[in-house]
Amino acid sequence: MRLKDKVILVTAAGQGIGRATAQAMAAEGARVIATDINADLLKGLDGIETAVLDVTDAEAIKALAAKVGPLDGLFNCAGVVHNGALLDIDDKDWDFAFSLNVTAMMRLCRAVLPGMLERAGQTGTASIVNMASMASSIKGFANRTAYGASKAAVIGLTKAIAADYVKQGIRCNALCPGTVDTPSLRGRIAASADPVQAEKDFIARQPMGRLATVEDIAPMVVYLLSDESRFVSGQAMLVDGGVTI
Ligand code: NAD
Repeated sequence: MRLKDKVILVTAAGQGIGRATAQAMAAEGARVIATDINADLLKGLDGIETAVLDVTDAEAIKALAAKVGPLDGLFNCAGVVHNGALLDIDDKDWDFAFSLNVTAMMRLCRAVLPGMLERAGQTGTASIVNMASMASSIKGFANRTAYGASKAAVIGLTKAIAADYVKQGIRCNALCPGTVDTPSLRGRIAASADPVQAEKDFIARQPMGRLATVEDIAPMVVYLLSDESRFVSGQAMLVDGGVTI
């Protein structure tokens, strides 16, 4: 049980990477609090506490942080993919990408950090994992201007938190997945002009010749939230099937 006695909060746990990770963490003995904006999607998470949380709601973040008490771990998974090159985006798209992908993450980290510092004072460690992407400061992709810029900001935020609190036992790392087969990816494929070709193109950019499954990604989060990663902080951890080889 690699996460025994740990209390861990996950955002966007209703489906995709967040849900699979919440389940993997519970299987490793954690007390998981799975949150999502969509209450229906949180159904069926057996043995896991659930709470509705829209991460763009600053007051709801404060209320939930007060309710759950001190945490050992936080997985900030919520994020949105904006599709578009620079000439395709307007200020509203840009602001929304930064609001959901970066500002919400900062607010949640800030809200739970006092409790995490308290826990780290008792146990020696507490860990934050922030969802970035290989599409960020690591690699540029076509039609990902707001997304890539906001996910690059996630890596900067992560390193800043790691630097400020390293001496107090807080570790903070970013997760940078490759292309993962999730409902949101399926939605992007379905919304494209030629869905069959779009799926082929997504697979073609993965050198291993397939999309990642959510089960390919969850173990890295479990590792980063467990004490096995006790000497790891401030890193952008790639799980990208070889894209950045
Ligand atoms: P997904 O669409 O399968 O799931 C997203 C979840 O987020 C849904 O359950 C949705 O209800 C929830 N959500 C949406 N808005 C929210 C809000 N304001 N507050 C709380 N929850 C909200 O998504 P996914 O593909 O698993 O992606 C999850 C994260 O992983 C995102 O940050 C995404 O950028 C990142 N990511 C995904 C991929 C990929 O290829 N799928 C690759 C790299 C990074």
